[in-house]
Amino acid sequence: MLRVKVLHVNVSTCKYEVKEYGNVLGPLDLGIELHLNYYKSYGYEVFNPNNVVVLGKGPFVGGGLFGAHRLVFVFRSPVTKGLYASTLGGAAYAFMGVGVDALVIEGKSEHPLIIFLRSSNDGEISVRFEVVDKIHDIYHNYDGFKGVRALVRYILSNYWNFIKDAKARIAAVGPASFNSVFGAIYSPVIDYVTRKILVEDWAARGGPGSVLAQAHNVAAIVFGGDNYKLIPKILRRFDSVSGIVTAILGESYVKKVIETTSKYSYDLDVRSGGTFGSNYKIYKEKVPYFNWRTLELSSNLRRKIYDIIINYLWKPFNEKVISSGIWHTCGEPCIVKCKKVDERGRKIDYEPYNGLGPQLGIFNFDDVSDVVDLADTYGYDAIELGNILAFLFEALSKNLLRPDELGLDGKPHYDPETYNPKYSSRNALVAIKIIENMTLGKSDTLKVIAREGLRTALKKLSKSLEERTKKVGLKFEDIAVYVPYGDYGYITPNYYISPGVLAPLAVLGRYWTLYSLAFMDPEEYAAAALDRALKEYLLDNAGLCRFYRRWVEKHLQDLYKIVYGVEVDLMKHAKEYYKKVIKYQAKSNALPRFWESTKVIKLLESMACEYGSKEWCEKFKKSPKDAALEWWSRFVRYLSSNLGVKFT
Ligand code: SF4
Repeated sequence: MLRVKVLHVNVSTCKYEVKEYGNVLGPLDLGIELHLNYYKSYGYEVFNPNNVVVLGKGPFVGGGLFGAHRLVFVFRSPVTKGLYASTLGGAAYAFMGVGVDALVIEGKSEHPLIIFLRSSNDGEISVRFEVVDKIHDIYHNYDGFKGVRALVRYILSNYWNFIKDAKARIAAVGPASFNSVFGAIYSPVIDYVTRKILVEDWAARGGPGSVLAQAHNVAAIVFGGDNYKLIPKILRRFDSVSGIVTAILGESYVKKVIETTSKYSYDLDVRSGGTFGSNYKIYKEKVPYFNWRTLELSSNLRRKIYDIIINYLWKPFNEKVISSGIWHTCGEPCIVKCKKVDERGRKIDYEPYNGLGPQLGIFNFDDVSDVVDLADTYGYDAIELGNILAFLFEALSKNLLRPDELGLDGKPHYDPETYNPKYSSRNALVAIKIIENMTLGKSDTLKVIAREGLRTALKKLSKSLEERTKKVGLKFEDIAVYVPYGDYGYITPNYYISPGVLAPLAVLGRYWTLYSLAFMDPEEYAAAALDRALKEYLLDNAGLCRFYRRWVEKHLQDLYKIVYGVEVDLMKHAKEYYKKVIKYQAKSNALPRFWESTKVIKLLESMACEYGSKEWCEKFKKSPKDAALEWWSRFVRYLSSNLGVKFT
């Protein structure tokens, strides 16, 4: 096991100290131990300063190993109410120069604060604090920019010498983090010569930005430096890493990387690349659209919508983005260059685009880009926001909400049967108006959704508008797609029509599950989903990019052994820590609960039928709720007995 050097920064007192911890393999282990055993953050309100943000690098940073530089954030999620982890591409490449393995942010500043970290000339750590005056004025407009992009421009203008000298990276939050529970952390890759932003990246799921902003009043962290004392020398050079990995693999390292990552780089079979270019060709018409209604539609209609996706979304992406060849990395040396970027430096990925595009009946590439751009500007988790907007669009179309209740003057065109691509721009305008109104607090309904999360808002709406729900014959919960945790927590799923994104697992909303398009018996599914969750745990704990999983998973144990001499059964280790996460979720009232939404149950039924599970299809058709309860309970029972813990 490893020993790590951790910088604790208290933003109430502006004091800091370095502590050492042993017996961990990476930042996720560290974050779990600190939250569970030291700060006991489960015992406080989610925005209490005891909800520390632990951010750290994996043990294989150094520059030589591609994909080893994700920065890992561990925090108690204001969305799920349980322990959560989000990762930020390439940011550990700058963080490793600070000279510590991790940073813990404690306390709460009186004013919005920027923390500057770097190694000083004598190799020691230097920490500086700067108050941001009038942050909301900056968010409103700085140098022609809004939101989190304006804050980053402000930091670049005022602290450029620090950033350039320390080759520093900025991790900042936008207004969404101060006003909602699903605020993201934004971190652009900067050209240190021209000061240009090359590409933007995010740690978004679970609301890490909201914790930074509301629990600590931290608006940004700026980190860099050149203290590499903690980094093993072999990790600093590509040739030594390449030699090691080639020996482990028994074949060329670079060749293996190219072979196993083509989906994210450029796939000759689909003639596109990145998650956006590849997923629409891989999943074809089976991607979620119109608030997850895909599988309810006839095959003819699905074909029609798929044609719209290809012609209005995918082809323009290929013409405007792929053919431009403006591909970047997330900020670390990496030959995959998965970041496909438009002319404004904004990256195009499948999940935000699908959530704020087809899910809302917006298919025109430029229209979707406008909506994603605004969500990003304010610093929202675009996946969460997409699911929330899809729920609102359906509530409007089913007359559960009136446009004026959301500050709108009309409804979107949201009927797939009569849909025409010309409705795209109208729907984009509605989405943009909702995002603006949510951010500016212009609608009480949107305020509740933002500040208390979707699940609490659904319950409040079903209560306050009971007459309306009776008239329509649906509760608000019945048209939203989410997974409940404990009494108040939830998460909305990633955009894959897979039981795994809805299954009762300890952490959802990222890839700690199976998300292939298949339906199986619950025990078989739970075994495969748990296996995937543990492997994803190990990737995150090592700060590794999951796009490398096809080769690195098999050989991670070898890397720990060769670089650190650590011999450990990694799957056993991951299981132990996954159990600790469950222990935390139990203490924080955030264990999985049975689905509350008939839409989710219907979705599972259509998956069972669509993916060829005759037995479960019949069970669902006979009695949807009983079938869902049986599948859910058997899934949970399997996990409980496999892990040896009480899981609900
Ligand atoms: S594949 Fe993409 S996200 Fe992963 S390390 Fe390379 S550039 Fe970064």
